Amino acid sequence: MSSRWSESSFRHAFAWRLGLWYAALFVASAAALAVVTYLLLARALEDQDHEVLQSMLGRYATEYARAGLPGLRRLLESDASEGQHERLMVRVVNQQAEVVYFATPPGWAAFDLSTLDQPRGTSPWQSIADPTGGAVLELGSVDLPYGVTVQVGRSSHVRDELLRRFRERALQIGALIVLIAAVGGVLITTAGLRPIRELDAALREILRTGRLDARVPARGSDDPLDELGMLVNEMLGRLQTLVGGMRGALDNVAHDLRTPLTRFRNVAEAAIVSDDRAALKEGLGQALEESERVNATLTALMDISQAETGTMRLDDELVEVPVVVEQAVALFADEAEDRGLQIVTDVPAGLKVVADATRLRQVLANLLENAVKYTSAGGRIRMAAADQGDHVTFTVEDTGSGIAAEHLPFIWDRLYRAEPSRSARGLGLGLSLVKAIVEAHGGTVGVASTPGVGSTFTVTLPKARPAATSPRA
Ligand code: ADP
Repeated sequence: MSSRWSESSFRHAFAWRLGLWYAALFVASAAALAVVTYLLLARALEDQDHEVLQSMLGRYATEYARAGLPGLRRLLESDASEGQHERLMVRVVNQQAEVVYFATPPGWAAFDLSTLDQPRGTSPWQSIADPTGGAVLELGSVDLPYGVTVQVGRSSHVRDELLRRFRERALQIGALIVLIAAVGGVLITTAGLRPIRELDAALREILRTGRLDARVPARGSDDPLDELGMLVNEMLGRLQTLVGGMRGALDNVAHDLRTPLTRFRNVAEAAIVSDDRAALKEGLGQALEESERVNATLTALMDISQAETGTMRLDDELVEVPVVVEQAVALFADEAEDRGLQIVTDVPAGLKVVADATRLRQVLANLLENAVKYTSAGGRIRMAAADQGDHVTFTVEDTGSGIAAEHLPFIWDRLYRAEPSRSARGLGLGLSLVKAIVEAHGGTVGVASTPGVGSTFTVTLPKARPAATSPRA
């Protein structure tokens, strides 16, 4: 319960973190934009003020050059009367440092104008701060011939007022942006994460119920989250097929085990109620046989997986081929006779091969079992072995049903059974076990078959397997 809680709180924490990040980024970019705009605006207003002062100075310098100090004075007075000096400070100083013209707009008393006569640097611009704080007086000066200096100044308070209003508006809009960011963040955490939540819910449902047929809802868009959902669905589909296949195989195994187990039970029951010692013995013998068959099936499954993972252990010995062939044939002699089949062998006397005798017998028995199983009455089965120099070839030939070409490449696969064989008893494990064992011996398998005519299975083993030959990986 606590882990469930912590998982969900983790998911919430993740969602909220994502939302917060989104909101923070949104607000930060809006703030950066506002700051840049503010700085650009302040700069543009300052440039504009300088331009105004510059153009005034230019006009006065031209007039001075044209009509001298009296002309300049006339122009200044006419400008003043036209109200052009309402927001400007204008000051003219002659060669003797006497102020010949001085006009200041109302409210300029706050500025300390005593600094006006102090020597300037190379810059034509000078700033005098309002000691009460706030505005700045910006002053431009031009030195004219014969020691005359004209100074024109302008207070920054208009500009400051504009910027102050900009800041106020920016703060109001900023509050709105924070609100939008918060709403956006919430939307991201709810709507944006919906596909993840759906994926999460679907996977939890599958975990809870163990049902592999559940699917994540997919809208079919090329959205990465949607693609993730589709990938999960594809994976679930494959798992479903795989698990379905495994269930089928298990059903087969169960079916194949049930028959010998039922026979085992019947034999044991009959034996238990019988007083006849001979019948009791026979019953026990049959029961033993059946239990061995069950064991063999389970062992086949284990063997294949061992051989496929390369862990099959082989007890090599010098095997007498005629003996092992006879032993294999003996296993099916009765069944062949019952079904009206003839089994012939053709093995050179004294032929030997280094192999695990039990495994080799298993290989031949499996091939023979198939030959008997898939050949109908009156058929003929030939089991041969031949000396090929450093190899021995085993051949199991039958006049049975044969295998259609389309099935041929798959018959060595685990659990593969060609369509017409489904009715016959079997697991589809025999040939995969044959192949696994033969390859573990460093040998090869082969088949040639014509439907309706018969099949020939071939196994080739090296006569003396080098010690280094390991089971196939
Ligand atoms: P099974 O338990 O079905 O016999 P095997 O792995 O031994 O499994 O064989 C795989 C399939 O190959 C069989 O289902 C059958 O269709 C085909 N097959 C194998 N041997 C023969 C044969 N001698 N004649 C015809 N078909 C065969």
